[in-house]
Amino acid sequence: MKNIVIFGAPGSGKGTQSDMLVARYGFDHISTGDVLRAEIKNGTELGRTAKAYIDKGQLIPDDLMIDILAATYDALPKTAGVIFDGFPRTIPQAEALERMLAERGTQVHAMLELQVPDEMLIERLINRGKTSGRADDNAETIAKRLEVYNAQTAPLIAWYDKAGLRNAVTGHGALEDINAALRAVIDNL
Ligand code: ATP
Ligand code: MG
Repeated sequence: MKNIVIFGAPGSGKGTQSDMLVARYGFDHISTGDVLRAEIKNGTELGRTAKAYIDKGQLIPDDLMIDILAATYDALPKTAGVIFDGFPRTIPQAEALERMLAERGTQVHAMLELQVPDEMLIERLINRGKTSGRADDNAETIAKRLEVYNAQTAPLIAWYDKAGLRNAVTGHGALEDINAALRAVIDNL
């Protein structure tokens, strides 16, 4: 049972690569963005709270996000392993994940970092916005999300590096080549 964090800026391809890894290894996949969007779609109170932050390109407060993550994790079958996509996004979230997994007798086994240049991220997100219907895939919100990523999320790179868990791979080029690089890390765990 492996716990794998897939990490990268908005638009770095976390969701796409996670789907490919799920197909290959049978992992469970937690995408916090997908969880929040489902709440919004279902019109729940949590969805209404989340929408106010997401539409501004901001992060949902840590306390709330940590509770959502734990509930989502505990509901999974957890057979081959779990991919965490979109969590952690702050240092307190990374600390909470470490604590949560320790309480359950396990740990994070690897952090996989998708590296993509900023100008490519912006182009991908603008293009995705044409078909995704996502209210946050517009030029203004994309700029804000990248700013939030650099300020609040990017410090996790050094945090995971220090923990000896960080594995950086090139996140542009052919999808299959990127996935092969991720699989090489996973097959070594
Ligand atoms: P990608 O394109 O690589 O999948 P993304 O940044 O476009 O990444 P999501 O992961 O789908 O998007 O997240 C969308 C929004 O949901 C974020 O901008 C944020 O507002 C909120 N969100 C998701 N995960 C978290 C989290 N761990 N903490 C706080 N807010 C979160
Ligand atoms: Mg995503």
